[in-house]
Amino acid sequence: MPYAPAAAELCVVGYIILRGTRIVLPKALRARALMLAHEGHLGIVGTKQHLRSKVWWPGIDRAAEKYCKACHGCQITARPDAPEPLRPTALPDGPWQALAVDLLGPLPSKHSILVAVDYYSRYYEYEILTSTTTDKIIDSLENMFSRHGLPLILKSDNGPQFKSDVFRDYCAEKGIEHHKTTPKWAQANGEVERQNSSLMKRIRIAQSAGLDWQKELRQYVTVYRGIAHNTTGKSPAELLFNRKMRGKLPEITPKFMDFELRDRDAEQKERYKLYADDRRNAEHSEVAVGDTVLVKQEKVDKFSTNFNKTPHAVVHKHGNQVTVESPDGAQYSRNTTWVKKYNQHETGEHGAANAPAYPAQQLVMDSCDSTAVQAVPEVPAAPASRPQRERRPPERLKDFITN
Ligand SMILES: [Zn+2]
Repeated sequence: MPYAPAAAELCVVGYIILRGTRIVLPKALRARALMLAHEGHLGIVGTKQHLRSKVWWPGIDRAAEKYCKACHGCQITARPDAPEPLRPTALPDGPWQALAVDLLGPLPSKHSILVAVDYYSRYYEYEILTSTTTDKIIDSLENMFSRHGLPLILKSDNGPQFKSDVFRDYCAEKGIEHHKTTPKWAQANGEVERQNSSLMKRIRIAQSAGLDWQKELRQYVTVYRGIAHNTTGKSPAELLFNRKMRGKLPEITPKFMDFELRDRDAEQKERYKLYADDRRNAEHSEVAVGDTVLVKQEKVDKFSTNFNKTPHAVVHKHGNQVTVESPDGAQYSRNTTWVKKYNQHETGEHGAANAPAYPAQQLVMDSCDSTAVQAVPEVPAAPASRPQRERRPPERLKDFITN
């Protein structure tokens, strides 16, 4: 029973069987998973790493090895010589502090590729160039630095562009320490040399298969950045960006433990709500069925009042929706922010002195003849019948606020 050794770790979530956090793939899906995991022609180690981090089935490692060994592209580009010994270099304190840059090419297509590898995360950026003047190289580096910031240290070989005064001045201006490696001793820049041979392998595979090498290169880099590097055990993207990149193979994504971020976000939104409510003078509507209210109206011109002059009766209320009825029986619905409780004089109070201060009304009183004053209502029981509300102030006052 091939599942027996893993029995204790197996569990079922919905229709998916998991081993730990890895999805157990049924036979029918394994070939496809192998193909996806080897996309970009990662080596055996890389392909296994890619697969194992997300999915599992009994004999997965053997299947991956077999698949890689049988890959046509990988076979024809296999290196005849043994890989150069790894030179231990001190790990920088953090990502994107120390970079190695190198120029790859020219390729048969006349293109060259500028590669910059981060010693810490093993993340690398590349740019395809048609010209390799110092200015072009600086332009490309500037593009990379615009994304990730300036490094402290830059290592390169003694290529003429890197030896030039222009390049020296550029580094000085940006506060970058430039280290040049010994001529003809490529291993001194081992990290970038290794990347270069990886890139060249993909280019050769693409060429031999008649594929678009730039597209193939991008595909390889996308996979490379997202899967665990065999030296660091983490993916370059994770070390550089502090997050994982999603790839094509399915994966159980752990929920982010970003409680602090979520709390701050919630607090910020609550603060903003309070502020916005305050700004809008928001308050809970106390309007109830049976109340008399004024209903807001659209502004037609400068003299339009905020509220319609005819008080309405509230006949229905649901949540922040009210239905109001006009004196002639017409009903309509409004949000509660559109109505305002209308205060009527208690019977027996004095008249005109306590008249409600309608801005438009005041205007009429101040600027017009005395007949208007007498028409000011004491109790606007039927305000619709007050003809003077329609009167306009004299033209000469149109730019003044008078009260
Ligand atoms: Zn391959």
